Amino acid sequence: MTGKSFEIFPYVGLALDPIHVGTGGSRLGRVDNTIVRDPVTRIPKIPGSSLAGVMRAYTAMAEGKYPGCAGLGQPGPGGTGGHCGQLDCSVCTVFGFAKGKDSGGGFAGLAAFSDMHVLLFPVASQLGPRWLTCPMSLRQAGGRGVTHVDDLPEQDAFYCRSEGQAPQSLNLGWLHLPVKTDWNKLESISQELERLGVPSYITDRLGIVSDKLFSHIVNSNLEVCTSVAINPATGAAEEKALFTYEAIPRGTVLIWEVTCRNPKHFKINKQDIVAVTTPCDVRGIVANADSYLEHLGIGGMGSRGMGRLRVLKAQDSCETGETGKEAS
Ligand SMILES: [Zn+2]
Repeated sequence: MTGKSFEIFPYVGLALDPIHVGTGGSRLGRVDNTIVRDPVTRIPKIPGSSLAGVMRAYTAMAEGKYPGCAGLGQPGPGGTGGHCGQLDCSVCTVFGFAKGKDSGGGFAGLAAFSDMHVLLFPVASQLGPRWLTCPMSLRQAGGRGVTHVDDLPEQDAFYCRSEGQAPQSLNLGWLHLPVKTDWNKLESISQELERLGVPSYITDRLGIVSDKLFSHIVNSNLEVCTSVAINPATGAAEEKALFTYEAIPRGTVLIWEVTCRNPKHFKINKQDIVAVTTPCDVRGIVANADSYLEHLGIGGMGSRGMGRLRVLKAQDSCETGETGKEAS
């Protein structure tokens, strides 16, 4: 028995800083450096390719294989460096490697990273901070034990848990929404979010709005930071070099998934992979990068105190022993 071909692991993370994963510096409207958005919903996201890149670099650091097995893996001009591509390299087997210098084939890697989506978005209100979500974001968390929500009973309302004297309306500055506390799915949704690892101080302040309102509220509450380009020669601020950039705000909860393929179902140059033997091993290698993500972060402007992301721990099927065990 070699088990299933792959396992999918849900991940939930909390932004400890504003996070800026840029589109490449094109100027759009009032902001110089915009962030990546979903083309349909206009909600910011972090592309899986960006996540895979930093997770590879941090795993290489954790495994003592930085910088060789990190990066794009092309050998230097002298033919040295680049990905090692060895069967016992936990970085190259899990994250894949480029075509070798001996013109051997490349390998796509055992771990695949989805885009990171906004699951819960923090807003200031007259009630204090509230974390908003919408049916669409909950659907992205679907299949991970979160109640399937087709739509809300009313589109232009704010659904939250009852907390004594709830006010009649929620004031988000430019938007007043009637408050509804009688929607019976909210209690189970917040419990399911807690099981995914979302802290109770967030689920206690959960609010749900329609998909359309969510997109509007997120886009009008992104951080827009201002910075000044520094002249590397003088160390002083450049004249007229003020620039602005968007960021996903601190306190945002993101959700993504890592698909871990079963190493037993793959061969590299017709040989068995030895660095990892189960999907849980693959997940374990990826998890070594979590603490780096929390301290070194993801995205641009890292030197300006941006990008740190804490992976919120939920017990998953590897820890409970429901999966990944070899049948003997
Ligand atoms: Zn390697």
